[in-house]
Amino acid sequence: LLAIRGLTKRFGTVDVLKGVDLDLDRRDVVSIIGSSGSGKTTLLRCVNLLEEYQGGDIVLDGETIGYRSANGRRHRFGDRELSRQRSMTGMVFQSFNLFPHLTAAGNVMLGLRKVLRLPKAEARAVAETWLTRVGLAARADHYPSQLSGGQQQRVAIARALAMNPKLVLLDEVTSALDPELVQEVLNTVKSIADDGATLLIVTHEMRFARDVSSRVVFMEQGRIVEDGPPEQIFGAPKNQRLAAFLRNTR
Ligand code: ATP
Repeated sequence: LLAIRGLTKRFGTVDVLKGVDLDLDRRDVVSIIGSSGSGKTTLLRCVNLLEEYQGGDIVLDGETIGYRSANGRRHRFGDRELSRQRSMTGMVFQSFNLFPHLTAAGNVMLGLRKVLRLPKAEARAVAETWLTRVGLAARADHYPSQLSGGQQQRVAIARALAMNPKLVLLDEVTSALDPELVQEVLNTVKSIADDGATLLIVTHEMRFARDVSSRVVFMEQGRIVEDGPPEQIFGAPKNQRLAAFLRNTR
């Protein structure tokens, strides 16, 4: 479903991604772990077209993301094409990013109305289905300020999933939560994974990565240095720096 080849990304003079290769099949759940600054978030943002990149390719469901080639050069797509491609993925952010002036249902309905152009009643029905799915049926008409952080994050997950994306990107979705709210969000992600969604997850929750993932990749200084099943990554890491990273996070 997703094929990333030789991806390079620079911010000014800093090389943040130095040739990343990563493949996801449908229904894969892949967690990216690694120390702060290794490029995990930047990688997700490139896939979601929030960042331009300098080299390599990202191919999602057969489409090259972000650029077309002509006369041996790459050209960034225009806004319309970028937003069409962006809707192939759904992204959930650390900071929820809900619209404060819209209710939970309103937040979920926005993309359904504006992007998918569903009639209001239909969008409302889809929103209610997804809010029920994340355990928030009774909170549909609450505003973000009336919801806990964990509930807000579950609304954000419902909003991403309601658009029926091919791939869901989760960027440290529990990092901004009080510890007692982390588990409800992780449970929601786990149940979506069990339902067969394709997920690419950046997380600092090692136990969660171990439990939910079909594969785990370890990033270090802009490269993926180990990629394998969770039993290998956590049980028998081959890379020395991964082993050191895991010792420090336990
Ligand atoms: P964390 O776990 O702390 O979120 P990360 O692995 O997700 O870290 P990134 O956020 O991808 O790392 O950042 C990788 C590097 O890119 C860091 O050195 C960061 O300072 C740099 N960087 C990220 N965004 C920008 C930006 N907009 N402009 C300049 N440098 C940036």
